[in-house]
Amino acid sequence: MIINVAKSAGFCFGVKRAIKIALETARDHDCIEVLGDIVHNEHVAKDINAAGIKKITRLVRGKNKTLLIRAHGVALKTIEKARRLGYRIIDATCPMVKGIHHIANTMEKQHRTIIIIGDKNHAEVQGIIGHLKSKPLLIDEEHTLSIAAIKKIKRACAIVQSTQDMEKVKRIFALLQQHIQDLKLFNTICHTTKAKQNEIRTMPLQNDVMIIIGSKTSANTKRLYEIAKSLNRKSHWVSSGKDLRAGWFKNAVSVGVTAGASTPDYTTDEVIRRIRQYTA
Ligand code: SF4
Repeated sequence: MIINVAKSAGFCFGVKRAIKIALETARDHDCIEVLGDIVHNEHVAKDINAAGIKKITRLVRGKNKTLLIRAHGVALKTIEKARRLGYRIIDATCPMVKGIHHIANTMEKQHRTIIIIGDKNHAEVQGIIGHLKSKPLLIDEEHTLSIAAIKKIKRACAIVQSTQDMEKVKRIFALLQQHIQDLKLFNTICHTTKAKQNEIRTMPLQNDVMIIIGSKTSANTKRLYEIAKSLNRKSHWVSSGKDLRAGWFKNAVSVGVTAGASTPDYTTDEVIRRIRQYTA
């Protein structure tokens, strides 16, 4: 059995950076809180908690406390509220996500309607919306796109959640171009996502079985799985080695393995060890 591991598997730059900032902060400060999960992975969340950082769901009192801002960012009013409550802020927002905030703000000042292509409930998208003064138009899926609503827009700018499917975004961009005269397009899918998606468009075709590793709450892992499944029905999404089933590898000669941007290498190593046990 050959196991082919994707070059792009595992932590992206933004996640690595956020974890490093979190652990350094935990070394130097007491009473650190993070609003929600620092990244979408339960193993990483546990590690962060073990380092002394407490996950909270709402801001209450910030005196003598440090608030760590997660990799996907938060709304501006959340940061302002935290400051008012007395929190010291340590910002671990990925610089690529901050770049999206910057584009959105600049384009809004040019009186353009902001169009966001992304998952409406995702933390990153909520953070982008929370940096705007105006109400953006959100496009979640192609089939939810209202041509009538788009036709009414004269001047717009489209930005993209960093982990969206590149092919889907190209199709939505083409539709927007057909109907909006003054339109600026910013493909803000990040480099890591592009590299991961490029690999996942070939690996499922080159391997008998495809294993995608990542938390069920991870949007980018979900995307990798959906693309893999559309190319090879023997694609499986696991959050750890315990989710693997021996039957998946019956008669398989090669297995492709990739992991989402918030999946730690130790989880990927554990999954690979288990695959070897099943196929020994
Ligand atoms: S997926 Fe991209 S934008 Fe998101 S945290 Fe990672 S590097 Fe940053």
